[in-house]
Amino acid sequence: MALPPERLERFARHIVLPEVGGAGQAALAKAKVVLIGLGGIGSPALQYLAGAGIGSLVLVDDDAVDATNLQRQTIYREDDIGHRKAELAEVWVREFDAALDVRWVRDRLTADNAGSIVAGADLVLDGCDNFATRLAVSDACVAAGVPLISAAVGRFQGQVGAFAGHLPDQPCYRCYVGDAFDADDCDSCAEDGMLGAMAGWTGTFAALQAIRALLAPTGGMGDPQWGKLHLLDGLKPAMRTLSIAKDPACKACSR
Ligand SMILES: [Zn+2]
Repeated sequence: MALPPERLERFARHIVLPEVGGAGQAALAKAKVVLIGLGGIGSPALQYLAGAGIGSLVLVDDDAVDATNLQRQTIYREDDIGHRKAELAEVWVREFDAALDVRWVRDRLTADNAGSIVAGADLVLDGCDNFATRLAVSDACVAAGVPLISAAVGRFQGQVGAFAGHLPDQPCYRCYVGDAFDADDCDSCAEDGMLGAMAGWTGTFAALQAIRALLAPTGGMGDPQWGKLHLLDGLKPAMRTLSIAKDPACKACSR
């Protein structure tokens, strides 16, 4: 699929990179990404995914903007307080790049609807704020054969993992955290606090890992880093990388 001249110009700084090139940019334009959570991680992640020309975006969040969000949720303004995040995020994308296909999902993601939300995606980026949703997203991705970038942040700590648990030798997010958090629905961010820029670092790094995974079929940025979890420390600052093993007893990805 050849990109039209105005798209070649828009993405010129990508296309000149040997790791992206015309083929990589065309792959991004064809890609469908489901973004779960449009908060501190999802806002900057969305800005860089849309900026990268990801052709099709599905935006999932059932929350509304409140004043405490504005310190880190970069796509919202004071006038947005009280309005639905997913709907506002769709408007943001349309105003940023009218060529992108975008739609929003108003429902809260649950184990019951996760499968239909992630179906047909090339990749899911999960930046939601609780374990129960993260596990439901991960299980649906494994079942549907969709790769997952899962990101979380609190205080000065971020983590970004790349998972392809549908592959026989690769772990899923549940292999990493286990089953204990299925019912855990707390949002520790309200209690513990979070430096806004830390959410930005974590969200943009999650977008980078998503783009890395989407470019993998064209050679792109090398290894998609399945099973790697990156821990971001904003106080030092430093980044550490852990390898997650596939759990042979995992109820989602091992049979
Ligand atoms: Zn697993």
